[in-house]
Amino acid sequence: MTSHWPLHFALVLSYRDTQVVTNHTQMLGCSRCLFSATFVIGFVAVVGMLLLRDLFPVTEPLCSETDHGCADRYFSLNYFHARTRFRAAAKRCGAGTITKSVYIDPRTGIDYTMDVAIVEGDAALNNSIVLLHTSGVHGVEGFAGSAIQIAALEAFSPGECTRPTPGSPTKIFVHAVNPYGFAELRRFNENNVDLNRNSLTPEELTELVRRDPNIAGYESFRSVFELTSAPTWHTQWTMLFRAVGGLIQHGMPLLKKALVTGQYHDPKGIYFGGNEVQASHTILAGILRPYFDAAFVLSIDVHTGLGPSGVDTLMLNSDEQVRELTPHFGPTAYSIETPTSTNDGASSGYDLARGISTCKHKFSPKAKLWDVTQEFGTVPGIFVARGVILENAAHQFSFGTDMHLRMKLLKKNAFFVQTQAWKNAVLRRGAVVLSEADRMLRGIAASAKSEQP
Ligand SMILES: [Zn+2]
Repeated sequence: MTSHWPLHFALVLSYRDTQVVTNHTQMLGCSRCLFSATFVIGFVAVVGMLLLRDLFPVTEPLCSETDHGCADRYFSLNYFHARTRFRAAAKRCGAGTITKSVYIDPRTGIDYTMDVAIVEGDAALNNSIVLLHTSGVHGVEGFAGSAIQIAALEAFSPGECTRPTPGSPTKIFVHAVNPYGFAELRRFNENNVDLNRNSLTPEELTELVRRDPNIAGYESFRSVFELTSAPTWHTQWTMLFRAVGGLIQHGMPLLKKALVTGQYHDPKGIYFGGNEVQASHTILAGILRPYFDAAFVLSIDVHTGLGPSGVDTLMLNSDEQVRELTPHFGPTAYSIETPTSTNDGASSGYDLARGISTCKHKFSPKAKLWDVTQEFGTVPGIFVARGVILENAAHQFSFGTDMHLRMKLLKKNAFFVQTQAWKNAVLRRGAVVLSEADRMLRGIAASAKSEQP
């Protein structure tokens, strides 16, 4: 059936009204033509809606920070704004702070930094129980995680971070693991590397570089994933034609899998996992070095883009972790899943992806490590993928132009829904998950204490 589709598609496009299209399909006496006509009319309607949506993106003005429930008290305009607020909130509560330069742009001299706030835990626990909270591993996705962190630090009263309560775990907030991507509205880092496909040992990375480049279909979708020239004024809509062709041929689940599996052979492509371990990971490992021998670590890494809008999915690495964490997070969670436990959830298609764990290799193998990705849905997946593809094309072919800026904003809107409802949902769930994690770790501390002779 699909082999006739381009022909019918071209024929149908040459007519301007439905009646003529219908007559033509009758003339051909072909039910496939009717199918194609219906499909094309539907497609044109969808593109029309996209046009309206792109021209009038769903954004709301910033609210006043004095308004009750104003989320913009914690959400920032950009990375630099967020970094300033994070540092101020950490300082106010007395948290220990670390700032590490990840990348200095040689063209501008701008210093992109990873900032850390450490809230000391109960001294009796000797840093053996750690709650790690990270934001901005995927750069542009950092708006949500940053806001959650700023709100969490501001919830402490002035100086409170220096006065740990009995049984409290050490809390480490890491702001902007990928600061260049956050600032430049990229999902990837200064080397076009996806840090969440790069949390690997050099040996693991070497193995992945040798892997079949088309193991999950990246090469099959290359014409969709990678443009060969700079986007122009209409590319954000016309590129969907190519995407639809690929979708009809392979289906959405395969397209998603080809995308999210990542690739290690094309440094200018999307979801590139890199050829070497990136600075963000080595710097973060250095920051966490004093906690390497912790016995229990619960890591929450905040992302955006997958799943229903404003709803968070808790993505875990194994069924064992699902069993262990469900009693603590299950009562309030929308979904707790692994890549193999779902066919259509946010985690689907990730089974061949590697290097997805901000905290892996940064703690002792003896540590009991729970690795939670808190993923907030934004807009439908096709818009998220479009934002990634177009911004990357603009970054590669029209860097520094107005078109590049426009594509960056298109991408920002795909990963950051600028409505008060979405922002409030992120803040609420971010706080709930942090509080549940804290309670779970305090329970472990209490059990350890009761077992002591
Ligand atoms: Zn992400």
